[in-house]
Amino acid sequence: MSNYTIWSHAIDSWFKEGRATTDPAAFDAYMKDTLASIGSCWESRGDEDSGPIVRPSTNLSCARQGWLVRKHGSEARGEPNQSARITWAIGHLLHGFVYSCIEKGLPEGFTMEVEHTRQLPDWWPEDDGSGFFAKQGHTDLVIRREPGAGGWPDSAGHSVLVDVKSSNETGYRNYGTSEFWNKPDGFGYMSQLAVYSDGGDAYDATFLAAVNRNNPGAQRQGLHVRQIPQTRLVEERERLQRILADRFEGDDPGPEFHERHGSSFYCREFCPVRHLCER
Ligand code: SF4
Repeated sequence: MSNYTIWSHAIDSWFKEGRATTDPAAFDAYMKDTLASIGSCWESRGDEDSGPIVRPSTNLSCARQGWLVRKHGSEARGEPNQSARITWAIGHLLHGFVYSCIEKGLPEGFTMEVEHTRQLPDWWPEDDGSGFFAKQGHTDLVIRREPGAGGWPDSAGHSVLVDVKSSNETGYRNYGTSEFWNKPDGFGYMSQLAVYSDGGDAYDATFLAAVNRNNPGAQRQGLHVRQIPQTRLVEERERLQRILADRFEGDDPGPEFHERHGSSFYCREFCPVRHLCER
């Protein structure tokens, strides 16, 4: 068993401990920061001026997504519906809630940094002036440990990257299942982590921490904190490097997500360019 499992248990217990003794002032401070992010949920996404179309978490699940946007421009961008925007807004609130709880429960010798802007790795496409590719990214949470803190062995590492997800009941349960990181990843959770865990700051391990959106205060439920295996991150990074190699300017790569996963729920219901994709 890896020493990194110490982090999984610890992050969950810090969250529960902080939640049990909620600090209204800390929660309030995080909420003030969150308000700016909530406003952005209603910004336009459908026109050419509405920001990059390819981000570490967006339009990389399938090689054809970026290619279709290059080909069709604003027709492919589309506007998210109201339901999606409200879900994002609630997600921002829950991120603030999770950060404030973990911070409250954090013991001596540990520090955390939230919503950090970071450079993308050197294999990420450079901006060509079109604004097509994001120029920088954001990591949710980085926790650092001073040597010896917690009485943990050195092999447990000194810094970890944590991506926070707020999920409905089904999604939350999914994060508790074995090897969920190998399931179809239409929403780009693995691609995001594969990008952010490479280059720049080096982290000892990478985690996904899910909170139940339906009942974040349920006493018997905490965070599902799961370490993503390094082999999975490397595999995902190699896939991204392959599909980004021609910056989506080459031939139609075909419906490769659909082919990889068979008839996919994501293709039918969620892919932002599904109206343009013949499968
Ligand atoms: S609908 Fe499926 S196959 Fe088509 S672009 Fe979207 S993810 Fe790819």
